[in-house]
Amino acid sequence: MSYPALATRTAVVTGAASGIGAATARLLAANGARVALLARRTGRIDALAAEIAATGGQALAVTADITDQASVDAAAKAVHDAYGPVDLVINNAGVMLANPLADGRIDEWTRMIDTNLTGALRIVRAFTADLTEAADDGRTADLVNVSSIASHVSFPDYAVYCATKAALTQLSTALRTEFGPRDVRVSAIEPGLTDTELRGHIDNPALREQLGGMFAAIPTLGADDIADLIAYTASRPRHVNLRHQVVLPTRQA
Ligand code: NDP
Repeated sequence: MSYPALATRTAVVTGAASGIGAATARLLAANGARVALLARRTGRIDALAAEIAATGGQALAVTADITDQASVDAAAKAVHDAYGPVDLVINNAGVMLANPLADGRIDEWTRMIDTNLTGALRIVRAFTADLTEAADDGRTADLVNVSSIASHVSFPDYAVYCATKAALTQLSTALRTEFGPRDVRVSAIEPGLTDTELRGHIDNPALREQLGGMFAAIPTLGADDIADLIAYTASRPRHVNLRHQVVLPTRQA
């Protein structure tokens, strides 16, 4: 899809090593935006940056772990050194680790909360001044949080993941009261089943199989579908804030 309004934008995309983040980075860059690619797997983001450059786009690979404050600080510095302030922040990195609560997997709960909620907050903290500065200059400024349909639909054995995404959606809503009056848009995007690497991190064999069955049962969304929605959202006129969007495969109830 073509979104000419994105040509002047400078973006940060977390979780750009795969799935929705990689697809979003590709689409933003294809529309002329400069894109900083943040993730832990350096090889993946280096390869994506090279791919984008080979097609005439601009991308910067920045290895970052959003659960680590020093890593986020260093990443923000690397982005600012290369590009200056950014005006489009895509908080996309996330992990989905399913197990019954009774299993007591505090390691997985901690990882999900640290990534999906505290990690997203670290990114907001790192780039808030950029967004308000862009808005003060009369430019379009966006924070886009990739939440999930799991924020308001209950999935058995995914309670902690659902809770992190509910928190991210509510954070987005609440932040609008601070950012909206400063002309910084905040958007929460809630995808349903999307074919990415996300489910590959579940270590409970029965739940992996169950989720595999859900993916096999219906045509799912692809990462490009979510990227397109993010690009559409960020390319609206400056006074239009698409606050909360749920996007599902047509056959997902
Ligand atoms: P992927 O697993 O393909 O992508 C997740 C990305 O997050 C990876 O690039 C990973 O890169 C990055 N990441 C994970 N942990 C960290 C960390 N600590 N620091 C920095 N980056 C990290 O899955 P998706 O593309 O599906 O997931 C993207 C978002 O979409 C997630 O927030 C997910 O919850 C959400 N979502 C996905 C749905 C789906 O069905 N796929 C449905 C609804 C929402 P690396 O490992 O290199 O760090």
